[in-house]
Amino acid sequence: MAYTVPKLTNYSAAALERAASELLSALGRESAVVKNEADWKILRDRWMARKNGILTQINDLWLKGAPKEAKREVGQLVNSLKSQVEAKVAISQLAIGVRFPKQSVPVPADWGAVFPSSEKVDITLPGIRRPIGAEHPVMRTSREMVAVFQKLGYSVADGPVIETDYYNFEALNFPPNHPARDTQDTLFVAGQQTKPLRERLLLRTHTSPVQIRTMEKMRPPIRIVIPGTVHRNDPPDASHSPMFHQIEGLAVDTNITFGDLKGTLDHAMKEFFGSSVKTSFRPSFFPFTEPSAEMFVSCFICGGSGRRGSDNAPCRPCKQTGWIEILGCGMVDPNVFEFVKDNGYDPKKVSGFAFGMGADRIALLKYGVDDLQAFFQGDVRFLQQFA
Ligand SMILES: [Zn+2]
Repeated sequence: MAYTVPKLTNYSAAALERAASELLSALGRESAVVKNEADWKILRDRWMARKNGILTQINDLWLKGAPKEAKREVGQLVNSLKSQVEAKVAISQLAIGVRFPKQSVPVPADWGAVFPSSEKVDITLPGIRRPIGAEHPVMRTSREMVAVFQKLGYSVADGPVIETDYYNFEALNFPPNHPARDTQDTLFVAGQQTKPLRERLLLRTHTSPVQIRTMEKMRPPIRIVIPGTVHRNDPPDASHSPMFHQIEGLAVDTNITFGDLKGTLDHAMKEFFGSSVKTSFRPSFFPFTEPSAEMFVSCFICGGSGRRGSDNAPCRPCKQTGWIEILGCGMVDPNVFEFVKDNGYDPKKVSGFAFGMGADRIALLKYGVDDLQAFFQGDVRFLQQFA
């Protein structure tokens, strides 16, 4: 007599086991007599048809009818029976030599038995070599520079690339309509005219918002270094890109002076470029530091002479001046501390310095590349040189 799915009234472990074993022995009997494709289709439909197939029935009669406390166990049982039925039906199909439809799930253990030896995998053939690539020169530069500061006890901080106007400008002492905003051609997210200015979203133009975000979370003293991607509305050319990378640093404590700034950055440049480089600071302006400076290092390509090679050719990277501008820095403007005053940054009690540099520009100099675009075009022939 053909198997029918019983209704369960007893959900004890023993009863479930008995019901499962009756179902599986019926499956075994029925699949054993499959001789051709027509038989197999009957088997498949009887067990797997979505409408009233045996799998659907056990789901309806056993699982849905199960009392709450037995649901979990019955669910596991039904899942297990489902995979056993599917496997058995797939094997029956293979056994009668029907071509395996692409969408069916193969049963790995049975592949070898089914395919003739001519279709077996030749394990003596060489494998497919997948090149593992190398660290991108910009990422490597960034990581090496970050490592210099980590050795000085700095920790790495991170923040969102899509920022609000507040963190990117206002809290860094760029008031609305301040001309300093024009120096950073900003890419705004469209359709936000109805929002208040400080909530409008933009692609951060520098990594400095992370300074504010970190000071909101951590009380002084802090020493952080912030590597990250930034965007500006600059058309791409040999020295500009709408997307580039910065490395920024911030140290805040009591009694931090400009002497600490100079000592720290001089040490970092000697670590990074070699102990023979000299550093020089020249006055500059940034809204979020006061006083501000640009730091130059003596040209590590021509050794500061402005001429290079045996033919005394003019040194292009330093424009024959012997100095290369490498970063901007300064003492944190007390106005910036006002925005995080409640978290322990009283400008009367703490002071600090900040600095920021372009990882891409340093990579250009370090690797002697003359076109910034080469870093972002993804040409494997270019990148292979750094492997
Ligand atoms: Zn030079």
